[in-house]
Amino acid sequence: MSIITGALYIVATPIGNLSDITHRAVDVLSHVDLIAAEDTRHSRKLLGHYGIKSQCVSLHEHNERQYAPRLIQRLQAGQSIAVISDAGTPLINDPGFILVKEARQAGIDVIPIPGPSAVITALSVAGLSTARFIFEGFLPSKAVERERRLALLATEQRTLVFYESCHRIADTLQAMVFAFGEQRSGVVARELTKLYESVRSGTLSALLDWVANNEDARRGEFVIVVAGDTPTHDAENAKEVDRVLCTLLEELSVKQAARLASGITGISKNKLYKQALRIAESRK
Ligand code: SAM
Repeated sequence: MSIITGALYIVATPIGNLSDITHRAVDVLSHVDLIAAEDTRHSRKLLGHYGIKSQCVSLHEHNERQYAPRLIQRLQAGQSIAVISDAGTPLINDPGFILVKEARQAGIDVIPIPGPSAVITALSVAGLSTARFIFEGFLPSKAVERERRLALLATEQRTLVFYESCHRIADTLQAMVFAFGEQRSGVVARELTKLYESVRSGTLSALLDWVANNEDARRGEFVIVVAGDTPTHDAENAKEVDRVLCTLLEELSVKQAARLASGITGISKNKLYKQALRIAESRK
């Protein structure tokens, strides 16, 4: 294959199963002058498996800002460089953004070599709407910030996709039950393409039960897919409901306001309680 001189290739690699790599990716990695890998030791396994002997340097989140200009110089001198991360598509919650941005600004060819990414892999089997979705990556690790972020997403109608680690999967599902409600549908996609792959769907509370009571279910890497909110009323009605709640909250507690508003509008108490709570908190 012919490699373009002075081009930067962004190459997707497997997210588990070493066979999930394209012929073109192997060709590019075999023929570039340099591979910039997130962790050269980690990538050695993949590169060795395919007999790829190109020179490797490390490009990770801690050295990218400092190292990118040097890589740009090499590209401008006519060398071809491929970027890979530990798994999946570089830049998707992985290093590469600074380098790609600077390369494009310098007029360098940036060429995608597409392949696996956990977000798309999970969506492809989740059985939740994929017509419109948003990718949230990792939620903040601090509980307060995570809850705040989830509260902002509670009325999002597009399918939501999150990355999560084994350390926080249970806490995150718990926080999702609180923010989105017990009955919201979701999918926990674990260890995709690997030996212990599992894709579990159900309500968020059922998924939480499963993860909380099953040690194996808390092992590995996770993508959480959550169905978007289904509005029970149109935008005009939503404004009206907000107005009713705001008025009631002038005189009543959150609980009382939610109960009365539910009687007036016919919308579930639970949903209105959360809405009233958000309004009350935004007034503090
Ligand atoms: N660049 C990668 C991609 O394209 O998906 C993502 C890298 S990010 C640092 C790592 C996170 O992706 C993991 O913590 C997990 O949430 C998700 N992930 C990666 N591989 C996975 C897999 N095989 N199964 C489930 N989730 C995975």
